[in-house]
Formats: sequence, C-alpha cells, structure tokens
Amino acid sequence: MKETNKLGINTICVHTGEVKDVQFKGAVSPLYMSTSYAFDGVDVKRYPRYFNTPNQEMLCEKIAALENTEDGLIFGSGMAAISAALFAFLKTGDHVIIQQVIYGGTYNFIVQEFEKYGIEYSFTESDNIEDFIPLVKENTKIIYIESPSNPLLGITDMQAIANLAKANHCISMIDNTFASPINQNPADFGIDIVLHSATKYMGGHSDISAGAIAATKEHIAQIWKTAINFGGNLSDQTVWLLERSLKTLNLRVKEQTKNAQKMAEYLEKNANIDRVYYPGLKSHADYELAKRQMKGFGAMLSFELKEGIDAMAFQNNLQLIKPSMSLAGLESTTVSPAQTTHALLTEEQRLERGIKDGLIRFSVGIEDANDLIKDIEQAIKKTI
Ligand SMILES: *Cc1c(COP(=O)(O)O)cnc(C)c1O
Repeated sequence: MKETNKLGINTICVHTGEVKDVQFKGAVSPLYMSTSYAFDGVDVKRYPRYFNTPNQEMLCEKIAALENTEDGLIFGSGMAAISAALFAFLKTGDHVIIQQVIYGGTYNFIVQEFEKYGIEYSFTESDNIEDFIPLVKENTKIIYIESPSNPLLGITDMQAIANLAKANHCISMIDNTFASPINQNPADFGIDIVLHSATKYMGGHSDISAGAIAATKEHIAQIWKTAINFGGNLSDQTVWLLERSLKTLNLRVKEQTKNAQKMAEYLEKNANIDRVYYPGLKSHADYELAKRQMKGFGAMLSFELKEGIDAMAFQNNLQLIKPSMSLAGLESTTVSPAQTTHALLTEEQRLERGIKDGLIRFSVGIEDANDLIKDIEQAIKKTI
C-alpha cells in the first residue's frame, strides 16, 4: 500500500497527485500542454501518447490512491480503457469469460472484434459465481465482470471471482463505473484490474469524456505497452478538468448515494411503481452481498412503472429530472432501456433480461430529494 492511501478520502480527492506550481506557487495544478519535451537521456521520453505528460502522470496517482492500487492509467474514454486492458492480456487462441449483463459498448466490442483475432469468449447465464465456474477452460485468460450492473443493478461476488481467477491463473477485471471508487474498491477483494468510464462519476458534470484503469504496477506496465500502440490517451486539457472534477468526487457521490437511498425507499412505497431495483433495499436479491462488498450502495437505481403508465410520456412530463442517454452527472437523469439502450432486442429478448417496457433507469443527482420526489409525483399524476 502506498503512503498516500493513509490519507482520508476527501484529502486524496483534493491533494493526491497535484502538480506542484513551483514557479508561482499557485493554488491549483499548472496545466502543461506541451506535446514536445526535452530528450532527457534514455529513460524518460515524455510524450502525450506515452501517457506520461506531467498532468497525466500526476493524475494517475490520484486514480491509484482512490482505488487503493499501486498504479493507474487514464484514457480518452471508458471504452479506450476497457479495450486496451482486454487486448493487453489477450492473444489468438485465448478465452475470456464475461458476465452476461455488461455495458452495451463493452458487449459490442467483444462480439464485433474478438472473432477477428481468434479470441474465444463465453457469456455467463447470470452473475452468480456458480455460472462462472463451469465456463473455465484450459485457455481461459480473463474473467470480466461488472457490478453493480446496468440496468437492473445486479451484484457480482468480487471475492469469489477474484479467487476463481487466481485458482485458474486468470486475470480478473471489473467495470467499476456504477459504484465509483467511493462506493467500492474491487482491488481490496483481490480483483486485478479495475476499469472506469470516467465520463460518468469521476467526471461527474456531464462534460468530460475519459476512462481510467487502476491495478498493480506490473499490470499497468503491461497495459501501457498495448495502450501506446492504440493511442487512446486523454488530452492534457481534459486531464486537468478531470483532476478538478475529482476534487469533489467524494462529496458528490456521497450526496448522490444518500439521495438514491431516499428515492429508492420512496419509490418502493409508491402505489404507481411495481418494483424498484436498488442494492440498498432489503428487497434486492443481493442486498447482503452488496452490504458486504460495497461501502455505499451507489446512486443508480431502476424502477418499473405500473402497467398502463407510459414510460416515454412519464419521462416527458418530468420537469426537473432530465431524460438522458448518459448517467452519473450531478444532475438527476432517467432513461427507459426498452426504448433506447435495449431497443434493438426483440421484446422476448428484453423480457428474458428482465427489461419491461415500463422500466426506468434513474441516475440520482445531488438535487434536494424532496424536489425530486415532487417532480416524480407530478409527472405520474399528469401521465395517468
Ligand atoms: C459509459 C460506460 C462505459 C463506457 O464509457 P465511455 O466513456 O462512454 O467510453 C463503460 N461501462 C459503463 C458501466 C458505462 O456506464
């Protein structure tokens, strides 16, 4: 464990990985926009695509400290991080086990790219560990999970996955975007590679596209070798903005998480809502598991409107909460998966995955919970 990990979470958010302004002693990190640096001997070749400009290098320290790992890397998008991490460890003939429910972009990447390179993959039937075990083969290299998952907030047992991977000499990877480093640190459970779409909670203001990886120095060094060939580095301007965003990560996510619990409890009591999916509710199938492995239950939830209440009309009637394709900003947003993210599936395929037409995914922001509740009440009244 690194020295910085002894600091409290808010101190890490504000101070770890600052670029010191030695020249003028300014309060914030100076932004180094140079794409060309002096050639300083053989070891240090600074160049943006080598992920080692001053702002990139320093921000990686903050990412690592937040996830309790030795090292980190930041990318131009979540998918740049995910694709680089997967391809860094895979070659023709290898096999990957992937959790059934994962982010759509990751799913597309796997089914559209892996075959071209002769990489085998198997999707599990569910997120239960029992469904991963029989899929392990001689050539299995990676076990890939997402927890909580999208859109029904399924929870995967990180400790069990890490143990399974270790026992079979595989690498375990998790997409930790939904929890953020504030609510869950997978490395503490032995997961090898922690992935983030920093476009979501890390950025948090719906104005940055970025990705991040946290892992051991050794794993990061291997990912780096592939990453410099793919070239998915972040511009230093955005690195600087991401550093600024991360200063309030804990404040934002804690508040959003508190709000989400309130909203989940309110929605569960609402007669016009059939069902609420939130790991912080005792009615959630994996409540005990979530309690064991999460520091907070997160700020994403889903709910099913009572039959007869049209999901699109309901969302159009919301005044404060915005319908939006993305998530995890400090403003509350909703999306109806059946009409958007899962629209390409047949109704039968959707129902198989538990996605009804009236399902709404709710990314809870930092607004006052009372105002969010009032907004939902008036929208339901207008819609029915
Ligand atoms: C958005 C998202 C991604 C992809 O991130 P981009 O920044 O859009 O590339 C990956 N995983 C999850 C869970 C996401 O929500």
